Amino acid sequence: MNATLLAELHCQLRGCTRCAAAGFAIQGPPIVSGPATARLMLVGQAPGKVEVEETQRPFSGAAGARLFRWLPHAGWEEAAFRAQCYMTSITKCFPGPNRSGRGDRAPSRQEQALCAEWLQAEIALIDPAVIVAVGALAIARFLGPGRALVDVVGIRFEIDGRAVIPLPHPSGASAWIQQPAHQALIRRALAHLAAASWG
Ligand code: SF4
Repeated sequence: MNATLLAELHCQLRGCTRCAAAGFAIQGPPIVSGPATARLMLVGQAPGKVEVEETQRPFSGAAGARLFRWLPHAGWEEAAFRAQCYMTSITKCFPGPNRSGRGDRAPSRQEQALCAEWLQAEIALIDPAVIVAVGALAIARFLGPGRALVDVVGIRFEIDGRAVIPLPHPSGASAWIQQPAHQALIRRALAHLAAASWG
């Protein structure tokens, strides 16, 4: 039943024109994946060019390659994770490149607000026990704004009856993830994810 409802939700999502109607030059289609039965939901920032133009799968570009080098430390190989976990994002279409030329443009607050209802619907339907919040926008969505990565990565939060485990965005544009002290926090976060997944 939930699988049918999720398929209907995805059908509605693919028809979404909210950002275009508001004048944002985003590029679809919206990118999400995973089964309605998922216990674990991963929420990123937004898909990139590779995801939208080539693979139509979340986290399948360079950032995804790094993410899937992290996840085996939590016991998740890529194929199993993609098959069993739900992957979505704060905004679901490609926001375009960053003007600086490094990485993708972060979706504006208005775009985040326009897309928020879709994420809310996904959470309500799938009802995951564990949410992995990847990157500053996803972390702000679940923990509130203004939280520094160093204060939240490595901690398991309990929110609305779910475990929420923050991870930094695995983008190559992030200097944060390269620092040894921060890599230790990432390992701690992955240990929490392992315990929440298999414990
Ligand atoms: S980013 Fe979200 S709200 Fe904007 S057009 Fe895509 S699905 Fe719709």
